[in-house]
Amino acid sequence: MSSSTPHRPDGWMDAHWMPFTGNRQFKANPRLLTGAEGAYYRTEDGRRLFDGLSGLWCTGLGHGRTEIVDAVSRQVRELDYSPAFQFGHPLSFELANRLVEKMPAGLNRVFFTGSGSESADTALKMARAYWRARGQASKTRLIGRLKGYHGVNFGGISVGGMVANRKTFGQGVEADHLPHTQPPSGSFFKGMPPAEGPHGAALADELLQLIALHDASNIAAVIVEPFSGSAGVVIPPVGYLQRLREICTAHDILLIFDEVITGFGRTGAWTGAEAFGVTPDILTAAKQITNGVQPLGVVVAKQAIHDTFMAQGGPDYMLEFPHGYTYSAHPVACAAGLASLDLLARDHALERVNALAPMFENAVHGLRGVKHVADIRNFGLAAGITVAALPGEPAKRPFDIAMAMYAKGFYVRYGGDTIQLAPPFISTPAEIDTLVSALGDCFEATA
Ligand code: PLP
Repeated sequence: MSSSTPHRPDGWMDAHWMPFTGNRQFKANPRLLTGAEGAYYRTEDGRRLFDGLSGLWCTGLGHGRTEIVDAVSRQVRELDYSPAFQFGHPLSFELANRLVEKMPAGLNRVFFTGSGSESADTALKMARAYWRARGQASKTRLIGRLKGYHGVNFGGISVGGMVANRKTFGQGVEADHLPHTQPPSGSFFKGMPPAEGPHGAALADELLQLIALHDASNIAAVIVEPFSGSAGVVIPPVGYLQRLREICTAHDILLIFDEVITGFGRTGAWTGAEAFGVTPDILTAAKQITNGVQPLGVVVAKQAIHDTFMAQGGPDYMLEFPHGYTYSAHPVACAAGLASLDLLARDHALERVNALAPMFENAVHGLRGVKHVADIRNFGLAAGITVAALPGEPAKRPFDIAMAMYAKGFYVRYGGDTIQLAPPFISTPAEIDTLVSALGDCFEATA
């Protein structure tokens, strides 16, 4: 404990049951952040910590951006809350219009939520309700993908493919899964894996097997992340997403892209859809929309989907889609969203990501050959490094490495058997080099 750390009574940390955290380990060794500016956090014991994951993939513009702080504080004073149902406020309409400008052509109806998990479940419900509205109520089955992460709500964990998010909670919503697209360890592909080979675009044809099994008349939607973030940055092979699109179109199945990580800059484009050249029917996003400053999620649908709901008939005061959250389109979150969109443009954030991506790729692939590095994957300003597992304890070395990084002044994420990097868009090449070189040292120093 440094002299600046306040004295706290025993048990002070007991009441907060922390999410996705080893509570016992954390409370014995707290890592408290008390401030942030630009690409750095400040720890309670007075150290600077480089933000190697942009918060949780959400603060690409860096911390403490005056324009967002001002917009949020203005909005809190002006209209701190407005009921999300039956009333509106101008900012949500303005933000929806602005968001649509960034979407692939045709995706132009925005439903607001409060998070990525809520967006995933909203998209899945929207897909089912859409087919019902079209008189095809048997189309209810949802298809996700192994290693997919779509948040923690029941729909999301059911289509998701990460065992840690499923095994504890019993059965969820009926769902089936495509195989994952992670190449075997030792592949070290830079960017997208090639189309050919057993781990190439033909993996998308597995959807045909699921259609043969369930029949398209029972399938509502396929949901995938353009690249899987939480699984450790798993990049689709060349042509894979195109093939999924073709099969979904041919069989009248909606294609949903979960862009909670890939949306708003991380790929060097506004969306992963744009970066990979494939347009889904529904796209979800969250995180970077507000630069992480306020919770906000979106589900953006093609107009034809929205219009199907509107055309169901009945009195016009009746609900077309009985769904929404108390914090859908929260006015303060919308203010943060508008300010963040302005800043993404003013900072030339996409151009910066594209300019940094090649040196980032070279830097992370420079870790090939370092002790315990089993594979490296990257796209835009995101990278996942598979850590050779200790027998029976695949998560131990990643944890040890992340803790060693913390001691050195760097925040990186450990998840499953991977270390994940997503530096802020405002990073300098020197900061990226320092981050990756410190990571190499920590791998080497780990038993
Ligand atoms: N979908 C994807 C692709 C994500 O990466 C995440 C979070 O990392 C989520 C959904 C869940 O978002 P949230 O934690 O805001 O609920």
